[in-house]
Amino acid sequence: MWQEAAREVATEGAPLALLLLVASLFGLAVGSFLNVVIYRVPRRMSIVRPRSHCPHCGAPIRWRDNIPLLSFLLLKGRCRACHHPISWLYPAVEAGTALGFALLAWEHGWSWDLVPDAVFMSALIALAVIDARHRLLPDAITYPGFVLAVGLRALVPPESNADAHDLVFRSELARFLSDHALGAGAVLIVGSSFLLFLLERIDYRLLGRRLEELETAPASGGGSSAPSLVQEEHPPVESRPTPEPREGIADARSDDEAPQEAWSPEWAALLLALGLSGIFLALGREDASLAASGVRSALGALVGAAVGSGLLWLSRVGYYALRRLEGVGFGDVKMMLMVGAFLGWGGALVAIFLASLLGSIYGVTLMILTRERNPKLPFGSFLSLAALVILLLLR
Ligand SMILES: [Zn+2]
Repeated sequence: MWQEAAREVATEGAPLALLLLVASLFGLAVGSFLNVVIYRVPRRMSIVRPRSHCPHCGAPIRWRDNIPLLSFLLLKGRCRACHHPISWLYPAVEAGTALGFALLAWEHGWSWDLVPDAVFMSALIALAVIDARHRLLPDAITYPGFVLAVGLRALVPPESNADAHDLVFRSELARFLSDHALGAGAVLIVGSSFLLFLLERIDYRLLGRRLEELETAPASGGGSSAPSLVQEEHPPVESRPTPEPREGIADARSDDEAPQEAWSPEWAALLLALGLSGIFLALGREDASLAASGVRSALGALVGAAVGSGLLWLSRVGYYALRRLEGVGFGDVKMMLMVGAFLGWGGALVAIFLASLLGSIYGVTLMILTRERNPKLPFGSFLSLAALVILLLLR
């Protein structure tokens, strides 16, 4: 009977209601995990240990008080031990992820397309909340997120926009890549993680170093509003500042940071890329057409990443040239790599436009309400919101 059900699921006979139920429950579980990520990753804590505890009194949270959504309702939003209110953000993230997954499932039906989209959505939700709370877009999410984007696009070429990348694919290079799909796919996936190393170095040489010099010498700028601006820029910038160990700039920062994790996001991304390309090689050996469409799809993802993050990086350079300030953080640029890879170049452009629009509306409203002249906005949160809108409505 179970096998029958599974076969039904595999064909498209399974009822939609069951799919939505499964997707929502899975979304609740993922949302619960995202809460751990949202709390711990910006604080550089391990997401595995220690076990969850109340941030107020430190009492460990028992499993029955840790059931997504349900426990919050049963406990009436308070810690069982100290009765301190639990943030509404926890159930909101769980409910939001469940709703998001259900909408994706509703849109795609039973399809492999669900996997990359669900991964993308999870990363967006985590980044949106972390950036809103901490003005921070951790490398621990954006790095693996970008590699996953390229790898998953290679493994699961999107059905919906299979033709969209033909523009990219008409060139000679692309034809060559298609003919040597197996190797090309693996190189594209692994190469994407090296792209990150490279990008960090280039940005640091061209911009990061100067921005750090500005930070270490505050109040030196002229103008009445400059000192407060500099201070706002100061707290741990967008991402983990990208220290180049050889040049020894990290010293100033590393003191006040929590003990470092044993693994670094760069290496995690590289290992992930190796794993994904291994899967790609194994699957591609079985099915040559999958390898070819995988390369096409991965190439489209890389073009999306390059267009999106390139545009954002140019505006970062432009803002620095005009105002000697960090307008767009490098964390936003790295996040855009991931967003562009998942959405493709067209979606990336729409995402930037929509995020700027949402951010401007929010910023102007904030300026009118609080009379603060230069509120620092979490661009990553608006970018997440924009990408979610595109993911759910515009594809
Ligand atoms: Zn407590």
